Amino acid sequence: MILGGYQKLTLIDYPGKIATTVFTLGCSFRCPFCHNPELVNLRLAHDEKSEKEFFQFLAKRKGKLEGVCITGGEPTIQPDIIDFIKKLKKRGLAVKLDSNGTHPDVLKKLIDAKLVDYIAMDIKNQPKKYLNTVGLSEKNAPLLDRVKLSVELIMQSGIPYEFRTTVVPGLHEEKDFDEISKWIKGARAYYLQEYREKKILDEKLKKKTKDKKIDLEKIKENTEKNFKKMGIRR
Ligand code: SF4
Repeated sequence: MILGGYQKLTLIDYPGKIATTVFTLGCSFRCPFCHNPELVNLRLAHDEKSEKEFFQFLAKRKGKLEGVCITGGEPTIQPDIIDFIKKLKKRGLAVKLDSNGTHPDVLKKLIDAKLVDYIAMDIKNQPKKYLNTVGLSEKNAPLLDRVKLSVELIMQSGIPYEFRTTVVPGLHEEKDFDEISKWIKGARAYYLQEYREKKILDEKLKKKTKDKKIDLEKIKENTEKNFKKMGIRR
């Protein structure tokens, strides 16, 4: 595993668990609004941590941590993600996986082997605007098909999951959420995440978002009937 670091303690990343969050390096998307450019653009990565060091840390926290949240970057692009998670499960830890959904084959293996306890998947935008929103061109259309497959897999998995969208004024319009609602209708949980313009992958995005506003409360009000649970994260 190529790890970009870990946050020793989190009480919010893994719902209901005292956890640590581990960040993997590299991603299959190039979302201009990405807040972790150093995890996506490997040239910016400067603090690579070894897997050995991470497991040594876990050993020290034995009995104190209940779970590990694996995030990125995109964890499912790591060739040894399955073995990594097996090692966590052997240590009795619950595993939450954050994913952008580009590797449904990996998700399927993890779900079938009961290696993940919670999945959080990003829904970047409605399908027609998806590739543009993640910084890719139309020639990457197969990736969108894979994302759609992941949505289906997760919704049918029977394990706890959530979908979430970082709502970026200028990239999202209110009507996009009608399309997203049709797509993931009936989902167990859907969260809107407020966009914060701080460190981002593509500084040019700031021109697009300038003076734009989008009302998260209104989107929630209009669409929450489609989900078992819906919330806003600020
Ligand atoms: S926000 Fe986009 S580019 Fe950044 S880690 Fe997530 S999927 Fe990758």
